[in-house]
Amino acid sequence: MKIVDVRATTVAVPLEAPLRHAMGTHWGRFVRTIVEIETDDGAIGLGEMGGGGESAENGIRALKPYLLGHDPLQLEQLYWKICNPTASLYNNRAQLHAAIEFACMDLAGKRLGVRACDLLGGSLRESVPFASYLFYRYPDPKTGRGGEETAEEMVSHARTLKAQHGFRTHKLKGGVFPPDHDLEVYLALAAAFPGDSLRIDPNTAWSVEDSIRIGRAIEHLRNDYYEDPCWGLEGMRRVRSFVKVPTATNTAVVNFEQLAACIRLDAIDVILLDTTFWGGLREAWKAGVVCEKFQRGISVHSSGELGIQLATMLHLGAALPNLSFAADAHYHHLTDDIIQGGKLPYSGGEIAVPAGPGLGVELDRDKLRQYAELYQREGGYQYDRDPERPEWFSMVPERRFAQPKKRR
Ligand code: MG
Repeated sequence: MKIVDVRATTVAVPLEAPLRHAMGTHWGRFVRTIVEIETDDGAIGLGEMGGGGESAENGIRALKPYLLGHDPLQLEQLYWKICNPTASLYNNRAQLHAAIEFACMDLAGKRLGVRACDLLGGSLRESVPFASYLFYRYPDPKTGRGGEETAEEMVSHARTLKAQHGFRTHKLKGGVFPPDHDLEVYLALAAAFPGDSLRIDPNTAWSVEDSIRIGRAIEHLRNDYYEDPCWGLEGMRRVRSFVKVPTATNTAVVNFEQLAACIRLDAIDVILLDTTFWGGLREAWKAGVVCEKFQRGISVHSSGELGIQLATMLHLGAALPNLSFAADAHYHHLTDDIIQGGKLPYSGGEIAVPAGPGLGVELDRDKLRQYAELYQREGGYQYDRDPERPEWFSMVPERRFAQPKKRR
């Protein structure tokens, strides 16, 4: 089995409403690059990468000389060809490699008649629980959704999502408004869902001192963990020394050097693994194994994926023994997907690990065309800007936070 072609297509898939976060806004759609790798036996493997447009597509196509003739079963060779760590100063290719590796694992699994999780050692669970991912949202006039800002509005949003999907864990994406606003919303969520677990993630927007103050104010709640309240290993280590809630990160530890430092410094308790940011499903799995051996907790990070990358997250969740928390996914905010059968369904707050060989999902070519056309019409967006505040940049704390317009 040898690779004979590599294709990349940018798509934009609508969200129910624009999602606000500490660094900006997702402007009502997710833009992704869908990667197809074809082999000489006519099989096609699927990959996915965040962002899109010419630069992303050309980034994938530029690796053709590395890929044509490569056997997709040789996954470790693929990693060293594209991501040789000694060349990483010059070649920052982790996310490109991830998208290509997903497709090669898909091909390898299809060839052998096994699932991607089987290539990692097999499945320990057949479904993965997910958290409701609660964002402050701008209202979307097309869907009539969104507009959450106050504690009451966020609790109502969480109730709707729990009724629809069965979530038993709730994650508040904070950092848009001042820390005390997030605290008020988080306390309201805890009061509304006393049997469910909680987590809060202000995307590193708070100072260490605010992080300690808010952390102490939530210690009595049923917290899974306290995610990235402030920036960096040292800041998080200081917070951890004052606050009796396990801490978590998807920002301060995204490679093995940082993971080693985190373990040595005893800086952060739980590592959120991302199949894209860590450079692939196998790299994320390796990091999870290191965490398991060193008694660190893990969870699964979401980078705004469609069904192909979601499948990689499900296979990762299936294969890791120490996944003791619900995974994150933005998935329920999407209105559609580009895989056959439409969006993978939630049941009881969980999504089943796909049953078919490889990643277990297939492209719906009509949807791919439809959402490639949508991207051609609407283009991309700047993740770190806010269309409702065109002069705003995420800067020092006093200029970072929006003021809530609504009052109780
Ligand atoms: Mg996070």
